[in-house]
Amino acid sequence: MSIHYIDSHCHLDHLEEDQRAEAVRRAVSAGVRGMLTICTSLSAIDRVAAIAAQNKPHVAMAVGLHPHRVEQEGVPLEDDLTEIGFRSDVVGLGETGLDYFYNKSPRDQQEESFRRHIRASHKSQVPFIVHTRDADEETAKILKEEAINGQQNGVLHCFSSGRALAELAIDLGMYISLSGILTFNNAKEIRDIAADMPLERLLIETDTPFLAPVPMRGKSNQPAYVVHTAKILAGLKGVSEEEIALQTTNNFKRLFPKASELAEA
Ligand SMILES: [Zn+2]
Ligand SMILES: [Zn+2]
Repeated sequence: MSIHYIDSHCHLDHLEEDQRAEAVRRAVSAGVRGMLTICTSLSAIDRVAAIAAQNKPHVAMAVGLHPHRVEQEGVPLEDDLTEIGFRSDVVGLGETGLDYFYNKSPRDQQEESFRRHIRASHKSQVPFIVHTRDADEETAKILKEEAINGQQNGVLHCFSSGRALAELAIDLGMYISLSGILTFNNAKEIRDIAADMPLERLLIETDTPFLAPVPMRGKSNQPAYVVHTAKILAGLKGVSEEEIALQTTNNFKRLFPKASELAEA
């Protein structure tokens, strides 16, 4: 069987059209046969949906209002988010969450938007994707308060939080997605946490075009580069890169059942 990776979080709409086609081609030939592109604005859905449709069966779409954009676009209605979650071409809701590093939107608006995404995720039965920065305690509080029977169906994307939040996410039944940060010299703490988390709950991502992994650091990121994060994770777990590819692809399929064609692409 050939190796099959999935980039669980990228922003293909941030690339120029010719760059994007080339990035998808390169990813597929590097074994990154599935990509989940994240639409961060509710007004961009049609544009991003077209990108996903053009790149079937390798690209699927998740939609949410990024915490950076909540003030600008307004806190979305729970019913609107639920309706988006029910769309056949939407496999997840997000990214949503709290960014207390940049604080581009007022904190109370970010929190309300985050809670509404979670509730809409429960109603439409698609998982949610969490962006959290410098907000571990507040993120934990909301995840716990909004849980149903102590469970949440979601993923902490681009993991850069502390151990307590990682452990809480695992306890709630959630997943943790590791980005190029895992390869950075100064990220020992993130590697230590990743090493201790169960492999059956880990995903890998690029967050393209941001955060290119070592040895591509500083360049514009692309989904093909997820293999560098996978390689570091294989070292941390003491397993082969093939095993990381297989496990993280299976994990992705379990979390995002509506995107199962990415796992078979
Ligand atoms: Zn993010
Ligand atoms: Zn993102």
